[in-house]
Amino acid sequence: MQDIEKSEIKTVSEALLKAGFEACLVGGCVRDILLGREPKDWDITTNAKPEEIQKIFPDSVYENNFGTVGVKTDSDDPKLKIIEITTYRLEGKYTDKRHPDEIKFANTVEEDLARRDFTVNSMALRMSLDRPFELIDPFGGIQDLTGKTIKAVGNPEDRFQEDALRMMRAVRFMAQLDFKIEEKTEAAIRKHVGLLEFISHERIRDEFSKTIMTSDAEGGVEKMQELGILKYVVPELVEGVGVSQNQHHIFTVFEHNLKSLDYAAKKNFSLEIRLAALLHDIGKPKSKRGEGPDATFYGHQVVGARIAARVLDRMHFSKEITEKVILLIREHMFVYDPETVTDAGARRLLRRVGTENIEDLFMLREADRIGSGVPKAQPYRLRHLKFRIEKVSKDPISAKMIKVDGADIMRELNIPPGPRIGWILAILLEEVLDDPATNKKEYLTNRIGALGLLKDDQLAEMAKFAKKSAGEAQTRVEEEIKKKYYV
Ligand code: ATP
Ligand code: MG
Repeated sequence: MQDIEKSEIKTVSEALLKAGFEACLVGGCVRDILLGREPKDWDITTNAKPEEIQKIFPDSVYENNFGTVGVKTDSDDPKLKIIEITTYRLEGKYTDKRHPDEIKFANTVEEDLARRDFTVNSMALRMSLDRPFELIDPFGGIQDLTGKTIKAVGNPEDRFQEDALRMMRAVRFMAQLDFKIEEKTEAAIRKHVGLLEFISHERIRDEFSKTIMTSDAEGGVEKMQELGILKYVVPELVEGVGVSQNQHHIFTVFEHNLKSLDYAAKKNFSLEIRLAALLHDIGKPKSKRGEGPDATFYGHQVVGARIAARVLDRMHFSKEITEKVILLIREHMFVYDPETVTDAGARRLLRRVGTENIEDLFMLREADRIGSGVPKAQPYRLRHLKFRIEKVSKDPISAKMIKVDGADIMRELNIPPGPRIGWILAILLEEVLDDPATNKKEYLTNRIGALGLLKDDQLAEMAKFAKKSAGEAQTRVEEEIKKKYYV
């Protein structure tokens, strides 16, 4: 309550009250205040119509078609910079199972509460100029807060048929608040889960992201699977259910994906790392060869990266998020055995992954390792590689950092622009990666002269080999390690 007394919430509410309208805090913020949690955002509802709200607050915008007006304040708190005021509304008819067909304003806050999803989200605090705030709880929200229960307002089957996303919201709040889902509400989810097919990918993505950003991300995804929701969100993950691994794993593919996510959540890692942790072995069901203790999953990271790209693209995640997650998944098998990794190997890893992603890749590997339930590699090995990476990160790793460029090649060989320039640069880059000491102008100029003697097809072949060998050198050691550990 302290918060409200001090903040812009109070000023804004008082302005509504003084103009003769009602003002109620509603939804998530009331729930969070009663739970002693910090509200994520503040929602005010009123019987004033959008035009009337705008008259009271000249510095406001009518933001959408749902009766919400955003009032600008000069608060430093980002959550209070724009305060959203929404006119009391009735539940609209949902012929498309997503959007109310029309929006109808209501006269009382009680009517507005009746259209909300769960009892704990359907309480209001009525503000007043001269009396203490009054809690309005027509659906037993307080009781369900105490009993830690997510329960639909009214008939759960009707409510999920109106808007199927509410089924995912039930699971999200369960994970976020550490609640359970009430029996009838859960039964209605099982019955109507197929309606998720009508929900837009964007809404599903947002609710899914919120679920995996909770501290009980694992419990959330597990519940999605138990209730049949996951099949409509990431069916590719469901393929890992019951797929055993080999003598080096105690968990099935699905369990291991979840345990890795759990670690990422407990460590408060970013959305990208959590997504990568959850999806990192998504290629295993398709790459499994053999059964029992000797089963193998060669190349699962490449297959997995491709599957993850499809999953994230389908859910309309941004290009940045998608690219980062695929890169992390594709590279998650990197070798970090100090006896095997050379400086050149570390340099190649850094070049493939990029300095901006290397820390995240280590975090993913940590989640993978702990999520296996039988962490085999010692953390000191990972530290050793980190140290190596740091050491080599000052060495040349991109074409830009080589001491000669395309212009030098053209001048030295007296040739016009063309594919030969690119081929020679690729060969030199590979040589410099192998031995940074060769990155000297004079030495490289000599090499240009020598390479200039080769015919087009020879040069092209060498360049192709140079480009591939960065990947292959890594693959060769990986093969050896794989044989040793059956990963
Ligand atoms: P948080 O902000 O912590 O994610 P929240 O409860 O505020 O939780 P929002 O998604 O911000 O969740 O929604 C605000 C309120 O609007 C909810 O508390 C609920 O009362 C209502 N609400 C939101 N989405 C729906 C929906 N799909 N169906 C019915 N009511 C909804
Ligand atoms: Mg909210």
